[in-house]
Amino acid sequence: MFRTAIPLGRWAGVVVRAHWSVLVVLLLITDLLASAVLPQAAPGANTTWYWVTGGLTATGFLVSLLLHELSHATVARHHGVTVRRITLWMLGGMAEFEGEPQTPKADFRIAVAGPLASLLIGGTALGGAFLAAGALPPLPVGGLAWLGVSNLLLAVFNLLPGAPLDGGRILRAVIWWRRGDRARAGAIADRSGQVLGAVLAMAGFAQLVFLGQFTGLWLVLLGWFLIFAAQAEFAAGPLRERLGGLLVGDIMNSAPVIAPGWWTVDAFAEYAAGASHERVFPVLSFDGVPLGVVSLGDLLKVPADARCATRITDVARKDRAVTVVGVDAPVAALMERGFPRSGRDLVLVTRAGGLAGVVGADDLAWAFEVTALDHRPRIAGGQASKLTTGH
Ligand SMILES: [Zn+2]
Repeated sequence: MFRTAIPLGRWAGVVVRAHWSVLVVLLLITDLLASAVLPQAAPGANTTWYWVTGGLTATGFLVSLLLHELSHATVARHHGVTVRRITLWMLGGMAEFEGEPQTPKADFRIAVAGPLASLLIGGTALGGAFLAAGALPPLPVGGLAWLGVSNLLLAVFNLLPGAPLDGGRILRAVIWWRRGDRARAGAIADRSGQVLGAVLAMAGFAQLVFLGQFTGLWLVLLGWFLIFAAQAEFAAGPLRERLGGLLVGDIMNSAPVIAPGWWTVDAFAEYAAGASHERVFPVLSFDGVPLGVVSLGDLLKVPADARCATRITDVARKDRAVTVVGVDAPVAALMERGFPRSGRDLVLVTRAGGLAGVVGADDLAWAFEVTALDHRPRIAGGQASKLTTGH
């Protein structure tokens, strides 16, 4: 999800980025404020000022969304759960965790941190608007008040008890604490997320059809997303339990066939034809630095007459879509990034900057099936085969 997002920077090691759909939200909120909310709250002002205040307030709203997610991330880190990145998108913010909270208490605290931040921001903004009501012109006061109310609504909405909303996480933590069974608690929270999603989608649909309000579409989208996300979590639950504690280093292929970046497509194709049945390869630079991934399918896209002149490094995929993890990353965290496609994707596993191995679709399936048979994957941790051939 969100393979194309604009990086905004880092906050305490967490990558913060925005999906392009956030721009749509920024425009929609600005428009809503400039053409409806603000003219009502502060009539008679200049049109330009409505748009300026609207734009600033909408930006403030996105910043408060980010603060909500960063609160989750800060508390998570305190409890030993790493947050890899935060993405702002059309329906809000999303923090991607690496690993799981170890206790119901940690689970609860991480979940509750976001809504608490939104309540705090909402309360502060509303209080500020109230205090400034006489001293400042009505336009900024109106913007501040809207920011306050929308943050309070954000907190309340996020507290609805269904995963993946914060309220669903809180529900999971409470059931986990009461019954001592995390998997069961997670399943209940996911199921209630699906029900909640259906209710929201139906409410939005009714709003759209019976009241003719276009904003109903928003609820439909949101409900739909909730159903989808809760379903995906529910499906991944048993897998996650089973893979719990396994590290990427335990399941990786530590001696993959390597594609030297400086070889030509033709030379490598000839080598691959005789080397193995692999269809996707890690690409290394001459110095052994992992550059990306190349599949036979990628090579096929090079026109036949260009294969002698094109180098592997020119056709390798090295964008952000290529997943790179350390040997000590949990396998469960890998699953959260989407399943690698067979014959096309490969997770590059690194140790101290060098390639330690790779994980492909088959390796993951193998790990899952072996653990399902109640055995732990164990492979003698070999070194990645070093390149000995020049060409
Ligand atoms: Zn949250």
